[in-house]
Amino acid sequence: MTRHPSQCVLTAAAAALVAALAVRAPADTVVLRNGQQLRGRVTIEGDKARIELDVGATLLIDRGDIAESIVDGPAATAQGEAVAISADLMARLEARERVHVLVEQLIDESEAARLKAQAALAETGRQTLPILRAAFAAGSPTQRLHLLRVLAAIGDTASVPNITAILRDPNARTLHAEAVKALGAIAGHSVVAVLTETLVNSKDVAVRTECVKVLGALRAPFAALFLAEALRDPDLAAPARAAMTGWRDPVLLPYVLPTLDAGTREARARAAARVVAVLTPAHVRTLSRLIDLYKDEKSVGKALVPGVQRLHKDFPVVGDVELLGATQPAIKNSALDALRRQAKDRRRGPTPKDWQPERDQATVPRLVLAACGPVNRALLRELAADLATSLKAPDGSFSVKVDVSRRLVTIPSSEPGPLDARRVLERLEAEQSADPQAVRVVGVTAAALSAPGHQQALAPTRAGGAIALSLKQLGSEAAQVSRRARRLALHALAQSLGIAPCRDATCPSSILYAPEDLDARSSRQCNTCKRAFDELWRAEADAAAFYYDAAGRRRATIAQRDKSLHHALEAAYCYERALQPLAAIAQWKAVQAMDTRPGIGELINRRVEALDLAEKWLTKRQAAPAPSTRRRRR
Ligand SMILES: [Zn+2]
Repeated sequence: MTRHPSQCVLTAAAAALVAALAVRAPADTVVLRNGQQLRGRVTIEGDKARIELDVGATLLIDRGDIAESIVDGPAATAQGEAVAISADLMARLEARERVHVLVEQLIDESEAARLKAQAALAETGRQTLPILRAAFAAGSPTQRLHLLRVLAAIGDTASVPNITAILRDPNARTLHAEAVKALGAIAGHSVVAVLTETLVNSKDVAVRTECVKVLGALRAPFAALFLAEALRDPDLAAPARAAMTGWRDPVLLPYVLPTLDAGTREARARAAARVVAVLTPAHVRTLSRLIDLYKDEKSVGKALVPGVQRLHKDFPVVGDVELLGATQPAIKNSALDALRRQAKDRRRGPTPKDWQPERDQATVPRLVLAACGPVNRALLRELAADLATSLKAPDGSFSVKVDVSRRLVTIPSSEPGPLDARRVLERLEAEQSADPQAVRVVGVTAAALSAPGHQQALAPTRAGGAIALSLKQLGSEAAQVSRRARRLALHALAQSLGIAPCRDATCPSSILYAPEDLDARSSRQCNTCKRAFDELWRAEADAAAFYYDAAGRRRATIAQRDKSLHHALEAAYCYERALQPLAAIAQWKAVQAMDTRPGIGELINRRVEALDLAEKWLTKRQAAPAPSTRRRRR
């Protein structure tokens, strides 16, 4: 992509040079491989050559493009030929020159001037990335600090390896905190392992604080143990609490539970509050047992009691059905009262089994379509119906409930041009994690979306994450937009469930290069993708119904068969949520065997140790949850 435009600029530069040669003092003559000759000052920066042309513009080219460079050499052979340059090309040359001037300003003594240049560079957009990357590679520490922010603002995925290398370089310590922020902003979930490793190994509190902020905001289960540890670290406790506010993933439970018995009374009460914040209907037996265990220890016991209220309020019906299994008669009776108040049959029995149909009805997993900004509602409803049809098995053995959310997701944006997909996905993932039954949220927008590494993105997503779907490039005619949107949603859903791209070109799950490709796709997945989809959806459905152990078993089977790192990790998280440390350990060992990246093995060893501790703790206190197998559907 970059080759073609830079060639145009070179041609123009050569032409401009020719016109100006006669009046300039001698400088370097550079002969390019394509025969062009340029005159100017040459500086080599890594594999790039920077040429400050006599005509006043600066060029950045690949070093390999230079055939020969002669200092104070003879004048260019083309001397005397005057060639006109178009205003457009001259403007581009000037724009490049402006970028170089701004990069120079990043070493200004005044911070205000530096910040101004930084903001201006962030506005320049993707076309200046080659200059910014070269400047970043060769710049002074101050320049690099500001350039990290610029690269983060633009979202330069190509810089991720370089920024990661900074984190591993002890001589670049002053850049570490900024590098953490930049990685989080550019690459999000794909750098969770590196950031976790930095959180664990860095000695610098400022750097670790940034890691806690980013990992907490990403709600990264991979970091669960280490964020739980940060909660107890005097240097990190405050930022960790702030970053994890609203993160209600029970994946934290095995790491928080043992701390009910450690530290000061205040620390133990805080741990109890944390347990309450993340527990789900799957953990009623554990909560009920804890209330008994800590009834004599006032501060901890008092902090646990609101857990009952939370299950009742935050998990309508299913919370109360599970509370029927508590050992305390008062809790059971109040749950039964709550259920009877809304049921037609008031005489129904007092056990969870008696209320199984209500529980099933309250935990139907859904695919949720949400409008991001103004979107034609009729189109959304049509898309929902189309997707339900596409995903239904012809024999009726499998179906997916597809809902259109009444809520409008608004994405504030001050700039014109495409919406930053990172902001949109962040909002959608918050919606998704707030509703356990919303297995996937698909945000549909009429605006164009940009994602790091892509000027325009059709339907950005990640395995396990929400989906943002842009209608902008799907055409102008309603029927065409609707047809393409259906296939695009199927394509993104496969990605977001962690299904590998399909080789069948007519399958919506195969690789997509342009919106027009969608026209050759079927409205249904191929048999292989459909089987994978149904299997994964069932695992997600089990988790949505709080049968985490069942979900873990499904995932573990898939992971083992497909040798899939993603599914092995998901299986481990499911078992952690189910409070089954031994099963989780087995999955982490499987992950360890597959993921040989440096540093990962050590993180997993620590996780296995912590899970071992959790297992001992749960056994000693007889606080493990009841297995959900007996009451599983299907
Ligand atoms: Zn397929």
